[in-house]
Amino acid sequence: MKREFAVIGLGRFGGSICYELSKEGMNVLAIDISEDKVNEFKNVASHAVIADSTDEATLKELGITNFDHVIVAIGDNIQASILTTVILSELGVNKITVKANNDYHAKIVNKIGAHHVVHPERDMGRRIAHSIISNNILDYLELSEDHSIVEVKVSHKMIGKSLVDLDIRANYGCNVVAIRQGNDINVSPRADEVLQEQEVLIVIGSDKDIARFEKELV
Ligand code: ATP
Ligand code: ATP
Ligand code: CA
Repeated sequence: MKREFAVIGLGRFGGSICYELSKEGMNVLAIDISEDKVNEFKNVASHAVIADSTDEATLKELGITNFDHVIVAIGDNIQASILTTVILSELGVNKITVKANNDYHAKIVNKIGAHHVVHPERDMGRRIAHSIISNNILDYLELSEDHSIVEVKVSHKMIGKSLVDLDIRANYGCNVVAIRQGNDINVSPRADEVLQEQEVLIVIGSDKDIARFEKELV
């Protein structure tokens, strides 16, 4: 069965979620308090309605509890975001994802029933910061407070050497989970695989270990 999503708040973030889910063929109800925003999404989402999500009766009328997943993407109005989250949680919505503007906002919505909190600006800032520290760090993904995945270009120090030669796991405590060349991804690299220029390593580890790996090998 097709999953049902509702996106509340059609700013850049919520709008982008709405576009992408719709592009993937999902059923999406797009909700915003602004008529202009809703008009923008009339032809994108399955349904687009003008509504104030801080009004419980309105959310009930929309049958919000029938949706598999509700995304709260109200940006600047933190109070509206919090109130919306409380109502969704009290109504017993299956899965609630909330976009947080800052750590306090995140803490509160976590407490009041959000199942998943995202910080797109902060996370994208971190990813970009890592990728601009070094031309060889292509991407960075935070897994938890102290573990991450990084994509690094094979550096001059690595070319022509194998994972065993570099002894990455033993020396740095990190694991190479995949080696990518263009769109080809080898997800179970052999220890004796010789690294080539143009290849990209996908490395998982603690932030401390990854930092040491980046400093010494990248
Ligand atoms: P982004 O950073 O993702 O671009 P933004 O900064 O544009 O978001 P806002 O404009 O503050 O964020 O909020 C996103 C949307 O949420 C806006 O289109 C706004 O109309 C809508 N919104 C705000 N309050 C409510 C509400 N109570 N009910 C429904 N929609 C709301
Ligand atoms: P281990 O107990 O560490 O797996 P092993 O005796 O099974 O070692 P190999 O798996 O052949 O030996 O690898 C030898 C060394 O090569 C490992 O200790 C590790 O440092 C490095 N190595 C091999 N594969 C990887 C990998 N995917 N990522 C990082 N390092 C690796
Ligand atoms: Ca914003």
